[in-house]
Amino acid sequence: MTTGEKIIQECRDLIELLPSQALLAARQKHPGLRGLAVFPVYAPPEVIHAAGLMPLGLFGAGGKLETTQADSRFQSFICSIAKSTLELFLCGDLSPENGFEGAVFSSICDVARNLSSVVSRNAPDFYIEYLHLPQNAATEAARDYTRREFHRFRANLAHAIGRPITDEAIAESIKLYNRLRELVSELYEHRRVRPGTIRTADLFAVVMAGTFMMPEDFIPMIEALLAELRTCVPVQRDSVNVVLEGAFCEAPPIDLIDSIESAGCQIMDDDLAIGWRLFSRDVPATGDPVANLADAYLTSSAYTSVRHNNGQPRTKGLLQRVHDSHADAVILASAKFCEPALLDYVLFRRTLDEHDIPHLKIEFEEKMWTFERLRNEIETFTESLLFD
Ligand code: SF4
Repeated sequence: MTTGEKIIQECRDLIELLPSQALLAARQKHPGLRGLAVFPVYAPPEVIHAAGLMPLGLFGAGGKLETTQADSRFQSFICSIAKSTLELFLCGDLSPENGFEGAVFSSICDVARNLSSVVSRNAPDFYIEYLHLPQNAATEAARDYTRREFHRFRANLAHAIGRPITDEAIAESIKLYNRLRELVSELYEHRRVRPGTIRTADLFAVVMAGTFMMPEDFIPMIEALLAELRTCVPVQRDSVNVVLEGAFCEAPPIDLIDSIESAGCQIMDDDLAIGWRLFSRDVPATGDPVANLADAYLTSSAYTSVRHNNGQPRTKGLLQRVHDSHADAVILASAKFCEPALLDYVLFRRTLDEHDIPHLKIEFEEKMWTFERLRNEIETFTESLLFD
């Protein structure tokens, strides 16, 4: 195995762990480390890291838990990430005993809002934060409001852990996450410019693993991976270049991405785990670092279905993504029962039709074990484009 293959395998193994196991793995390098779970799509990891905690991506349990307790507290028509996240609290995986200080949710949808309340009620001794992100980022008032909200988060977290979170520490964490985002976007750019040197399933595993590690441990890994990829010879194959859109919150099973690729799609861009690579520019580390993070959220964020985009329609963002990545088609892959994705599907479909961009809609959930039917569907779609 080459160094790059070992790194990818390590990342694939890491994302198979439950949050408590991932924190335990991080403790091998950082004894006594405690964590704060971050429900997608976005909360500032820099503030959490500056508090001396590991910001850990809370993407549900990925099919590794039976959601028996959570099922009794939720309706059946709820996305799987919400159910399995609650199960993680109810079964004690996310608990103070396992090293967690708490969790942060944000205002992405009604499900996340309710989930945060249900978790608070069922885990009363846990610090649960709900970040009220602005619904309209384009107004004058949004700047002050978002800054106040980010400052409130910092103050509440500091109170919960019983120690201050200093500007200096946040500035240092910003520098670290700027570097991390820079490397991840370099990986994305590498896939776009030299497709065939890294599969998206592997890229996805690497990005997801980054949410299960301390950034200072992740950065050298990604640097080593990039160094090897730069020397790789691309594997050429007949495929259709696609953008994968819709999985901005719940993460699809990695086998689903494998299936899309083996069915003849070359994924050129995607919105997987987008909250952890949200900003297109570095966040300034000077001045008021918390205000800088709030401003970056308002002015430098990628578009997602859960964020109103400075008055710019999200359909424009999707068209730009298709154009920039030289994609021929779009696969709209959303979590089952994900309302924001379903609402955007109507808009996206109409826009793609207007621009004669072929598209295919698929749905996923955590507990998907067979992908044969989906693979056949995608194969039919790609063949219709390749042999048209
Ligand atoms: S998957 Fe969709 S509906 Fe479920 S929590 Fe995420 S954004 Fe909300």
